Amino acid sequence: MPENRANWSQPVSPKSEVGGPAAGVFSLWDADFKLINWSERLKERLGLTGDAPVILCEVYPKLVDPDFAASIQLVLDTGEPQTIRLSNVTSERGHLLLFRANAGLAIVEIDGADVDERTKAGEQERALLIHQATHDVLTGLANRRQFGDKLGRILPVSENASVALMQVDLDDFKPVNDTLGHGAGDTVLKLAAERIRRTLGKDETAYRLAGDEFAVIQVAQEQPSEAERLAELLVSEFRKPFTVDGITVFVGASIGVAIAPRDGNESEQLMKAADVALYAAKKEGRRRARTFDSSMLQVLEQREVLRRSLRVALQHGEFFIEYQPLVDRSLAVTGFEALLRWRHPILGVVPPVAFIPMAEADGLMSEIGQWVLEEACREAKGWPAHYTVAVNVSPAEFLTPGLTDRVSQTLDIVGLPSDRLELEITETVLLERTTNNLDTLNTLNVLGIQIALDDFGTEYSSLSYLKNFPFDTIKIDKYFINDLPDDPKSQTIVRFVISMAHGLDMRVTAEGVETAEQAAWLQAEGCDRLQGYFLSPPLGAGMIDGFIQRSLRSGLVDNNRAET
Ligand code: C2E
Ligand code: CA
Ligand code: CA
Repeated sequence: MPENRANWSQPVSPKSEVGGPAAGVFSLWDADFKLINWSERLKERLGLTGDAPVILCEVYPKLVDPDFAASIQLVLDTGEPQTIRLSNVTSERGHLLLFRANAGLAIVEIDGADVDERTKAGEQERALLIHQATHDVLTGLANRRQFGDKLGRILPVSENASVALMQVDLDDFKPVNDTLGHGAGDTVLKLAAERIRRTLGKDETAYRLAGDEFAVIQVAQEQPSEAERLAELLVSEFRKPFTVDGITVFVGASIGVAIAPRDGNESEQLMKAADVALYAAKKEGRRRARTFDSSMLQVLEQREVLRRSLRVALQHGEFFIEYQPLVDRSLAVTGFEALLRWRHPILGVVPPVAFIPMAEADGLMSEIGQWVLEEACREAKGWPAHYTVAVNVSPAEFLTPGLTDRVSQTLDIVGLPSDRLELEITETVLLERTTNNLDTLNTLNVLGIQIALDDFGTEYSSLSYLKNFPFDTIKIDKYFINDLPDDPKSQTIVRFVISMAHGLDMRVTAEGVETAEQAAWLQAEGCDRLQGYFLSPPLGAGMIDGFIQRSLRSGLVDNNRAET
């Protein structure tokens, strides 16, 4: 956590332009009159360390006098600022200005005898800035800064006290933001914050840490049971849909719970434990709460080991490619899709789903993708001249500037004609509807490179992409092929995709074709290309030559092409 516990943020520092006389002694108190933030000068005067809770009457003992207490109540009830002569409260001269800030109280000491309207207005503005510095503008929840302050103040707790930290992360928030727009995203965040706030009781505080990440700090005796009760309640609250501009959206919550002192008695440690628990909740299917236990660390450590070895896998030559054939309607081979594999020295062959997301997150995917591209193009040069090679391009790679240059340079260096390369991208790439990704696609198109839309039907399937982007091929995801030919719903969907694609002058590839019946059905429906275990599993580079020879000889091959 940032070490900002005892500092005001820039706008409320004593040198600030706002607020007239440079008073420099400010403090912010919550509804229970506990100190939540303070200025340097007050810190110096009181020798605050930030470790122990400070309550109002410790700093201004006389404020408990009935007259002053009434003034404070007035501020809290009406929001009307009050002025108190400072000499009545301490030995200093000047005035004490009281403002309402959030549900609590802001106190500013003013030197000098006069407190005119301007001063008041200035100080009110100051109080507002204090509020802004400690609260999230969108949701009104306490912000990350206050979260750090609070955690720093309550930790460490003694053995018999108990505090729970919950990391709350929304599930499926990004798709809402991406498909319905940021306005709708903001509305969901506000509603989510409200839902969290409503669910909390006494001694339970919610914070917005960032984006769709929230946290709750709960002070309760019975732990972890109290925390688990609250976490379950929150998860079930988020099972109910949100309504945004009349549209119903489901945004769940995953929660990681950590208990102090058991799982950590210092901010960083406790946050890490809650994070690990959150990761476990996500991993177990999301929309659930998990409480930290040390076995979770093992899983994470294994992941860390994998992540570290991934960084050197390229230099160590641990990647290799398998090639899965694609065939046309007459079952003649038209080319291969390059599928990346990682041979880990200890773990053996790791499938791409296990390491590509990690490589993407760590910014390694551009480099790895470049290797795949070059390697696959070199391999393809040795194939019959009408065979194409399909290379998967992950969203992170696609969105890295300079993709088109890299691709065309690679084709030049290797000497592969551009029309023999097909790039497979997923809909996620297109979510950011920037002119850039449209430019990239158009440039690739102009270069003569084929573009396939992979995994069609699994993501957002917004049909507007199909109108705006120049695809050559749509690949129907194996999810829809799986239940063919018997399932009428899958039939309808696949038929629809085929006729839509043909209407748009695009070809259709069916992936995951596993049976003769599926292949026959797809052929009859006019699907242009097939791919799947029924035709061939992905093959090691060493097996390609044999496969090509056999398929050129076999009756499946289109005779016109076999001569090439
Ligand atoms: P994908 O592009 O959808 O690739 C098809 C996946 O389906 C491959 O899994 C393939 O082995 C598998 N498959 C093929 N035929 C069948 C079948 O008949 N039945 C079933 N159930 N599965 C079949 P794989 O190789 O594990 O790859 C998984 C994903 O990893 C790929 O999905 C692709 O998204 C990604 N990937 C693979 N190689 C690369 C790469 O070089 N770069 C990038 N960015 N992503 C890659
Ligand atoms: Ca693919
Ligand atoms: Ca696919």
